Amino acid sequence: MAGPDYQANQDKNDFLQILAAQGVEFLLSGEEKVSPILCGGKMICLLFSAKWCRPCRTFTPQLVQLYNTLQKRGEKLEIIFISLDHDKNEFEQYFKTMPWLAVPFDAELQKQLCGEYCVDCIPSFVPLCRDRNSKEDDLIGFIEDYGAEVFPFTRKRMQELKAMDCAKRVEGKLEELLGNRGYNYVISGHGGKTPISQLIGKAIGLYFGAYWSPPSRSFTAKLSKVYKEIMDKTQINHSLEVIFVSTDRNLDEFKLNIMDMPWLAIPYEDETRQDLYRIFDVKAIPTLVLIGADGKTSSENGRGLVSLYGAEAFPFTEERIEELEAAVKKEAEELPSNVEDMKHEHVLKLELAKAYVCDFCKSQGSFWAFSCGVCDYDLHPSCVQLKNV
Ligand SMILES: [Zn+2]
Ligand SMILES: [Zn+2]
Repeated sequence: MAGPDYQANQDKNDFLQILAAQGVEFLLSGEEKVSPILCGGKMICLLFSAKWCRPCRTFTPQLVQLYNTLQKRGEKLEIIFISLDHDKNEFEQYFKTMPWLAVPFDAELQKQLCGEYCVDCIPSFVPLCRDRNSKEDDLIGFIEDYGAEVFPFTRKRMQELKAMDCAKRVEGKLEELLGNRGYNYVISGHGGKTPISQLIGKAIGLYFGAYWSPPSRSFTAKLSKVYKEIMDKTQINHSLEVIFVSTDRNLDEFKLNIMDMPWLAIPYEDETRQDLYRIFDVKAIPTLVLIGADGKTSSENGRGLVSLYGAEAFPFTEERIEELEAAVKKEAEELPSNVEDMKHEHVLKLELAKAYVCDFCKSQGSFWAFSCGVCDYDLHPSCVQLKNV
C-alpha cells in the first residue's frame, strides 16, 4: 500500500525538510510550541495569508468553519499558516483567530516557501496531497462555495461537486434540489409547512431576493400581482408555485419579507438557500429561475419574462414565449411606422418600448408605442387620433 500515498508523503516530507533546513524546530499552536512530528499521519495544508489583505480576512473565518467541521468528523487534517504579514505583531494578532498551526514569523522563510509553492497571490491554500489541484482550479472559490464538502481538496472531488450541481440543475429532481439538507418541506409566510413531494409536477419559480434590496421589493410586488392572476386562471390545479430563496440578513428580516408573500419559502435555517444560489449561479437579485412541470429549468430569466409579459407568460415554456414574441411582431405589421397625431405637434414614430406611460390616457403601456423623437411623448397605438390630411 505504499503506492497511493507516496506522493502525499513526498510533498509532506519536502515541506518538513525545508523547515528543518531553515532551522525551524517547532511550529506554533496558539501560544505553545509543538514539534512538526505532530503532523505525522495527517494531511497537511498550507495557508498563505495576511491580515492586511481583505480577501484573506474574508476567507479565514470560512476556513475556520471548515476546519472545525472536519475536526469534529475526525478527519486527519492539519493546516499550517504561513504569514505574509508586515510584522510579528500583526502576525500574532491575526494568528489568534486561527485554530490551527503556524510557522513562526520569519520573512526570509516566507519568501522561500512562496517560491517553493508558486504562491503569487493570497489567500492561497495548498494541500500537500496526491492529485494536487492546479492553480486554475480555484480551490479558494470552491471552499467558499462548498465548505467542508471539498475535502480532501483533490481535483477529482471538485469535479464531483460540480457534476452534482449540474445534475441537480438539469435533471429535474425537485426532491434532490430542495430536500438535500434534511428539510423535506418549504414554509409559507404564516409558518405552515408544505412537503416538497406535493410540489412535484408543478411549474416552479425559484425567486431569489432580499428585503434590503429595493429592486427586489418592487419585484415582489410585481410578481405578487402576476402570481395572483395566474392562480385565478389555473385555480383547479394550481399548477404554479413560487418558492422564495432568501438572502435576508437575519431571521427577523426574513419573516418580515415573507409575511406578505402569497407563495412559499425555503426555511431560513435551511442551507439549501446557499446551495441554490450556487447551483443556479445567481449573482444578482432579484432573480427568478423557472422550472417546468417536468422539473427541468426552462428559463433563468423569469424576472424579464414576468416584467415583460406578466401573467400572459405562463406556463413560461419556450413555446409560450415564442407565441408571445410572434404576437408582438404581428401587431407591428398592422401599424404604420409614422403617424401625425392631432394632440401633438411633431411626427410620432412606432417604437418598441419595454414599458411606458401613455401621455393621453395616462395608463401604462408595453411593447409598441408611438413616440416623439423631440420631446418625451408617448401614445398607445389605440390612443392615436390622426390629423386630417
Ligand atoms: Zn393611451
Ligand atoms: Zn414632440
